[in-house]
This record gives sequence, C-alpha cells and structure tokens, in this order.
Amino acid sequence: MSAINGKKIAIVGAGPGGLTLARLLQQSGAQASVYERDQSRSARVQGSALDLHEHSGLAALEAAGLMEAFWANHRPDLDNLRLTDANGTVLHDHPRRVSGPGQRPEIERGPLRDLLLDSLQPGTVHWDCKLESSEVHGEQVSLRFANGQTSVADIAIGSDGANSRLRELVTPIRPQYVGVSLVEGLVPAAKHAIPELWDLLQGSALIALGGERTIGMGTKPDGSVLLYAGLKTDDPAVRQSLEEASGSDERVRWFQANFKGWSGLWEPLFREAVSMIWRPLFVCPADQHWAPKPNVTLIGDAAHVMPPYAGEGVNMAMLDALVLSKFLLSQDTPGHAIAAYETEMFSRMRSMTEDTMVNTEMFYAPDACERVVALFRSFGGEEAAVPPAGEA
Ligand SMILES: Cc1cc2nc3c(=O)[nH]c(=O)nc-3n(C[C@H](O)[C@H](O)[C@H](O)COP(=O)(O)OP(=O)(O)OC[C@H]3O[C@@H](n4cnc5c(N)ncnc54)[C@H](O)[C@@H]3O)c2cc1C
Repeated sequence: MSAINGKKIAIVGAGPGGLTLARLLQQSGAQASVYERDQSRSARVQGSALDLHEHSGLAALEAAGLMEAFWANHRPDLDNLRLTDANGTVLHDHPRRVSGPGQRPEIERGPLRDLLLDSLQPGTVHWDCKLESSEVHGEQVSLRFANGQTSVADIAIGSDGANSRLRELVTPIRPQYVGVSLVEGLVPAAKHAIPELWDLLQGSALIALGGERTIGMGTKPDGSVLLYAGLKTDDPAVRQSLEEASGSDERVRWFQANFKGWSGLWEPLFREAVSMIWRPLFVCPADQHWAPKPNVTLIGDAAHVMPPYAGEGVNMAMLDALVLSKFLLSQDTPGHAIAAYETEMFSRMRSMTEDTMVNTEMFYAPDACERVVALFRSFGGEEAAVPPAGEA
C-alpha cells in the first residue's frame, strides 16, 4: 500500500515542476489537483527557452510518457551559443548538442507547459487560484486563495516558484538577493528591428560579457528576440530609473548610464523592446535544511531557487517531481515519503547551488570574458552546463 492511497493531493503552482508531478501521480491513479494563480491556460508564458538534461528534465518526461510530445515541440534550431565581448566581438561559438548522447535539447516554456497540461485529467488545474495562506490542521492542510475559494488536502506540495507562499508552512528560511538583477525585454520582428544584432545572433543564442555586466539574447519561434541584460547592483535607484523610463530614448540613456564601456551596438535592444521588466535574482542557502513535515513539502524553485547560471533550475524542478512521486508511490506514509525525498533533494541541491554561485560570480567578474570562454572551451565537444541570462 502506497503513502497516497485514497489521499487528496494539492499541488500549488502549474509550472514545469508542479505539472510534471501531477502527471506522474495521476499516471499511478493518485488524486492530484493543481492550483495556479494565472487566470487561464492561455495567460502568456514568458521567458527563455529551456534545455532539458538526460538525467533530470528528460528523465522526468520519459517517466511521464511524454517524450514523443517533447520531440514534436523542441527547438533543434537553438544549436549554437555565441560568446562575445562588450563590443560584439565574437570570442567563442559553442555548438549545442540537441540530439544524441549527452543531448540537451531546447524547448520553449509555452509548449512545455502545454504538453504537460494536455497530459492531465480534465479539470486537474484550478486557474485563478493564487494561494494567499495555508494552515496545517492535524492530518490535513487547508489552503485559502485570493479569489475567496478554499480547499482542504491530505498532502500539500508547493511548486509555486521563487516567491512561494506554501514555503511559510515548511521553513522560515528565505531566499536571498544575490546582488545581480536582470532586465528582461522582448523585441518583436527582430530581423527588421535590430538587423545588426540579428545577424550576430545567427538564429540562435548569444551572451555578451564585460565590465561586470552581461547581455543574453535568444531567438523565439515567432521571429522576436528575448533579451536579458544583467548587472551587479544593490542600488534601488538603478531599478527605479529603468521602471520610470517613459520611452525608448530614456531606456537607451539608462543603458548608456548603466553599461558604461559597452558599444552602441546594443542600444537598439533598449530602443526596440516592447516592455522591460526588472528581475532580481535570488538564491536559497546551499546548506539549507529543515525538519520534514508529515504532509507538506516543496519542489523546484519554491524549495531551492538559484540564479540561471548553470541552466539547471527547470531540470531540478522536474527531477524533484520524479523523485517525490517515486517516494510517494513506494513509501508507507506521506511523512516517510517526504522525509526520503527531502534528504535526497538537500544533498543534490547543495552542490548544485554551490556550482551555480561559482558560475554567477564568474559571469560578473572583471575578467569574465577570459574565464567564461575558458569554461566553455573546457567542455570541448561536450554540452556546457551554462545557459545564463538568456535563452539558452
Ligand atoms: C532569466 C532566467 C533564465 C532561466 N533559464 C533557465 C535555463 O536555461 N534552464 C533551466 O533549467 N532553468 C532556467 N531558469 C530557471 C527556471 O525558469 C526555473 O528554475 C523553473 O521555471 C522552476 O520551475 P518551477 O515549476 O519550480 O517554478 P515556476 O516555473 O516558477 O512555476 C511556478 C508556478 O507557480 C505559480 N504561482 C506562483 N505563486 C503562486 C501562488 N501564490 N499561488 C498559485 N500559483 C502560484 C506561477 O504562476 C507559476 O505558474 C531560468 C530562470 C530565469 C529567471
């Protein structure tokens, strides 16, 4: 008899972690519901493409029986990562392995979410359910949502991302700002809007480095380009001046003021982007630990958010789902399953978080060009574990 026989499972957050978990549990006959703050499934899913790794993201999709759907939706064209300096001088072209042994194929977030949603039983996801508060009452957990609805579950799993509300039930430890923020922007019809940068991108992905700054760019299937401009800053005025910039000229002036020493080559990104969003980066302590709760746990960014400089966030979220589902299906009580999962997760994430922070320091070091190029060269023909502020 498994830990979840006859139990009602509530998963908070319909990101890649939560949806993968729902699929894996439903495949084995469990009663899993997902509560998501987005208004509907068509609410826009933004963000960079993701590369899935053999022993984590792809292994979870394999267990979920979704590899065929994955291959029908992946992006074989994202097959190169170009590194440049702040002048746009090409330092290195890193071929990306999109199939075969050691593959790290890419997929857009929207199609990944869609294929996971399509695999669930109808009515599994409750949209417009932003978790506001939660409480444990004996063997049950009650959830209260911003729309006034409530729900009671036997097991609650937080997959509600970096600002997880369910995390409050599990630990007082909070993610810390890493001292680096990203400015995310989208340039539509980029071939015409930013022709020089479009040519430099060559249809794939690029990271420019220098002066403790980065610019990551990646093509989207609709011909737009997603950009992430990253900078080390603790000054609230830097964010405020970007958010208050009233038009493209002011945004270009913001770039000039905050990317000193960078070529004007990059200015069209700030002129042509339709919107710009400030995204501070957070990390949970590598050695974080808490005593397992009998019926509440966390997966993915809710458990262990980290900066994107090792390209492992989504892969770890999906691997958490795989590991937790296996324990829930094999252990005799939810408490035993949660304890076994968290022991594995803490140990795996300790080194992953440490490695990610080493990469983060490297990308924003004064000698980032030399060090990051050396890192990629050291991979030889192997795929790098580093898709930073972009798309990769
Ligand atoms: C710029 C950038 C680039 C990245 N690039 C990569 C990469 O190349 N490779 C990689 O592996 N990872 C990358 N990551 C990290 C990756 O995006 C995350 O690690 C991954 O999305 C985590 O998945 P998740 O399911 O845990 O959480 P999320 O994807 O954050 O999903 C959380 C879900 O919960 C919902 N939610 C949030 N709060 C509530 C609430 N209160 N109530 C209900 N629902 C809620 C959200 O709407 C969302 O649907 C990148 C991150 C950034 C910021």
